[in-house]
Amino acid sequence: MILSAEIILPVSYSPILNAAILIENGRIRDIGKKDEIINRYRSHEQMEFKDAALMPGLVNLHAHLELTALKGRIFNEDTELMHWILRLVDEKKATSADVISSGSEKGITEAISTGTTTISDISTNGESLYKLKKTGIRGIVYKELLNFDDTKALSCWKKAIEDIESLRKDETALLSIGISPHSPYSVSPRLLGLIKEYAEKEGLRLTMHVSESREEIKFISEDKGPIKDIYLKRFKWDKYKRQVFGDCKSPVEYLEKEGLLSPEFLLAHGVHLNNDDIKMLARKGVPVVHCPRSNVFIGVGVAPFYNLISEGITVGLGTDSCASNYSLNMWDEMRFAYLLHNRINDKKITAEDIIRAATINSAKALCLDDKTGTIEIGKEADIIAVRLPKRDTDTYRDLLLHTMPNDIIMTMVAGKIIHSSGIEGFKNVN
Ligand SMILES: [Zn+2]
Repeated sequence: MILSAEIILPVSYSPILNAAILIENGRIRDIGKKDEIINRYRSHEQMEFKDAALMPGLVNLHAHLELTALKGRIFNEDTELMHWILRLVDEKKATSADVISSGSEKGITEAISTGTTTISDISTNGESLYKLKKTGIRGIVYKELLNFDDTKALSCWKKAIEDIESLRKDETALLSIGISPHSPYSVSPRLLGLIKEYAEKEGLRLTMHVSESREEIKFISEDKGPIKDIYLKRFKWDKYKRQVFGDCKSPVEYLEKEGLLSPEFLLAHGVHLNNDDIKMLARKGVPVVHCPRSNVFIGVGVAPFYNLISEGITVGLGTDSCASNYSLNMWDEMRFAYLLHNRINDKKITAEDIIRAATINSAKALCLDDKTGTIEIGKEADIIAVRLPKRDTDTYRDLLLHTMPNDIIMTMVAGKIIHSSGIEGFKNVN
């Protein structure tokens, strides 16, 4: 199949005007000027996208699809993450399994119809794997684990391993399983050690919420604050802090001590990383997922996006869940990130930086950059067609500022169209 459009944004190199892509067996086989490609491969079916751009599909690096049904139900005015989490737990308990399940499906539909071709989803029971499988999207589903009681680490892990191994039997070429120990303050060191050992042995990816709030830093470095108060009052876990974190001054220091930091470990949020943390992450090659709307929604602050990329850290973008955001649309996330960081960093962050974060950098963060994230020969054809808005001098900025959901004409994963907004935007030439 040949896809052609007014412009192709490969992301890894300069845009090509009036260009085409040859796709065979789900992979990109050739890219070039439209006339040349059509002449070279005359027998292939053609699909022309008029007034549109072809670009790599978007990679949502941090989602919790199972929380989509909680959209608009939790707003945190006291800006404390722990109270937000406790409300989330209560709201989830009060919501039926059917509502949660259909919420996940709606979330996946929203992601695909707005151009997401890969999703990195954290799931308490792994159910999203089966929902994602039906759609043809690419992704990693991380089984989430949360237990701070070290005496229960083994029993918790025994149950988890059964679930993980059962989920792994249903992995596909597009979908794989990872593990998400929730955070340094909510997973005991023993459980963390068991997770790490298994993930290393089996080559599974890990992701964790780290340095998301000031409360977390205060708890780990000073043994104070709302997390400690909640642990004392609700769980009577008064001795844990000193036993677990010792003299660590930050969550990153603790994770380094526990041997977690590596390119296979995806750090989520990192809002309150200090300079030493950032240098450590750069040294260890740890990728970071930035979720700007969620951070502002919950009120935890703004992550040091510019400092992270300046240190050469791979930073991707994620929407987080609809419990702390208002959409799973990566264009909304990119737009917000661009406006925020372009302004607070003296215009040093460009629209191209943000689109790279949501495509190739997010793919790199998942170790999937050999398959997706750019339009390059040899990669799998994860491509979207986006209607071009009114012309500016910068196509990246133009798309970023103007793309709305109905501008996504087509979403393709591994050469298969999994969403199209109808045929009015393109015509099949043959
Ligand atoms: Zn999250």
